[in-house]
Amino acid sequence: MKINKDINQFDIPLAKRTYLDNPNSILLKKLLIISPFFFLIFSIAALRGIRNIELEPFINLKSYDERNYDYRILGHLPYDQIPKEKLVLIEPNVEVHIDMHDSLLKMREEARNDGIYLVFLSGYRSINLQNDIFYSLKSIRNQEAAERAKVSAPPGYSEHSTGFAIDIGDATQRETDFETEFENTQAFRWLSKNAAKFHFKLSFNKDNRYVDYEPWHWRYEGSIEALKIFENSNRSL
Ligand SMILES: [Zn+2]
Repeated sequence: MKINKDINQFDIPLAKRTYLDNPNSILLKKLLIISPFFFLIFSIAALRGIRNIELEPFINLKSYDERNYDYRILGHLPYDQIPKEKLVLIEPNVEVHIDMHDSLLKMREEARNDGIYLVFLSGYRSINLQNDIFYSLKSIRNQEAAERAKVSAPPGYSEHSTGFAIDIGDATQRETDFETEFENTQAFRWLSKNAAKFHFKLSFNKDNRYVDYEPWHWRYEGSIEALKIFENSNRSL
């Protein structure tokens, strides 16, 4: 009994929680209350960051396309030169992309079966050769670059450097080679009707805003690689 009395004298309150009244604890309490807002702001920022990372390649692609439109020179789009190992010889001095080789020869064969004789005049042209053509013919004809560009692409801007372009003539009317009059030949009429079956398309038709009409110049669009190369050209027509 005596012992109990002694204890009561001290009157110690048990488990009295006083820490929340301490100034540091008040700060902690406030932090705990506003922490969900910080978490929310942080999450939004992180999500935006992830979205930007994911969208970045597409944004770059878009600006690349826009840049390409702007990078047209005298009406011609830029084209890379195909590596030599992708070329195959189909005539003396006429090389084409290996992917269009079969289709091109099949087209000539089918034309022949219909009594039409196609001649392949020019296929792949290196940027160096295109350079010679563009500058030598320009000076021979005493033309300015802009005039010459209507009938010949500047070096680095020719479909011929891709290996997917082919200039075609009529074996029975060679005087129309590289001339607008080629459109009056049987070969041209046959091509207009049948070339699409073999994935060939006239590159510079009468509606082209930039380049003069070239009825002899056809390009191959029968592979994904070719379609990619000519995507800008098809889109801007
Ligand atoms: Zn051509």
